Amino acid sequence: MNTNQHTDKKEIILTGDRATGPLHLGHYVGSLKQRVALQNSHEQTILVADMQGLTDNAHDPKKVSSNILNVVADYLAVGIDPTKTTICLQSQLPALAELTMYYSNLVSISRLERNPTVKSEIQSKGFERSIPAGFLTYPISQAADITAFNASLVPVGDDQLPMLEQTNEIVRKINSLARRHILNECRPLLSKASRLPSTDGKNKMSKSMGNAINLGATEKEISAAVKSMYTDPNHIRVEDAGNVEGNVVFTYLDAFHPDESYISELKDHYQRGGLGDGTTKKILETCLQEMLKPIREKRSELLNDKAQLLDILAKGSQISREKTAQVLSDVKDVFGLNIF
Ligand code: ATP
Ligand code: MG
Repeated sequence: MNTNQHTDKKEIILTGDRATGPLHLGHYVGSLKQRVALQNSHEQTILVADMQGLTDNAHDPKKVSSNILNVVADYLAVGIDPTKTTICLQSQLPALAELTMYYSNLVSISRLERNPTVKSEIQSKGFERSIPAGFLTYPISQAADITAFNASLVPVGDDQLPMLEQTNEIVRKINSLARRHILNECRPLLSKASRLPSTDGKNKMSKSMGNAINLGATEKEISAAVKSMYTDPNHIRVEDAGNVEGNVVFTYLDAFHPDESYISELKDHYQRGGLGDGTTKKILETCLQEMLKPIREKRSELLNDKAQLLDILAKGSQISREKTAQVLSDVKDVFGLNIF
């Protein structure tokens, strides 16, 4: 399989996912769909972030190692094509860890503590004063991931915006120390659903919160998740006028239903009154069942051939080791450390 059909002219994309669980609907609308579309026009690398997964799971490393191939299967099942996109494993690229060490000297602890996503994750994970150093510094390691490929475009959910800001601060410091342009600044590519809520509407859908509808969810799981979905608590009788803002069923219909004008009519009807939550949930369920069935089937077929998934990851990691060597050498040069 040829995994290196890229030309130097294409804009470079680097993006990735922590190997902390199978991927879910939030990943699908937040980033995966865009990656599938962009793999034809861009030089795209996707990183399975196993080391970053360990930053809050070192007490349970199997949670990370056992999910690496699940994530690769999810990529392929939604249409990532390994002949167009390089898929690699973070821990297999030593340049990323080395860059993280160099960049760590350019970022203050107080800057890391101000990162709003990290701040809220520290709270929700209950770390209090026992924050793993690797967790507090994971935005630096993410900067290493992005810059190692000299990527300029990163398709992400909006929780990642502070990471991209942090990356660009490091890029500017390195370029300023070098007194020449070495690293590219990057920009986010946000989708129209850049923060898909969980079905209860309380948080972002997330692997670690146990609140996700996975891409491999069974028919029963999908059905149960939609039935339990948060709607408008004041919409009691069918004839009542309902609110679509903050109503998770409508948030999901906006994100996943292919017919925008139909959803717009449905919203008008709901707001006028006369449309029950049972009906809107049924429409959403049908839409999700249709969308997820082929993904679930493909995913399960792929997971029956783990050797093939490992092979894709090994080949992509080899290509990525070669790609990341140049930036590491450039950064070492900035610090005067290419002495042999
Ligand atoms: P974890 O709970 O382990 O952090 P996660 O569900 O947040 O897992 P990540 O691996 O951290 O997933 O994120 C991978 C990518 O998916 C990032 O670009 C992130 O912004 C995006 N993403 C994750 N959850 C959502 C969501 N609910 N809506 C939109 N994008 C999302
Ligand atoms: Mg996350």
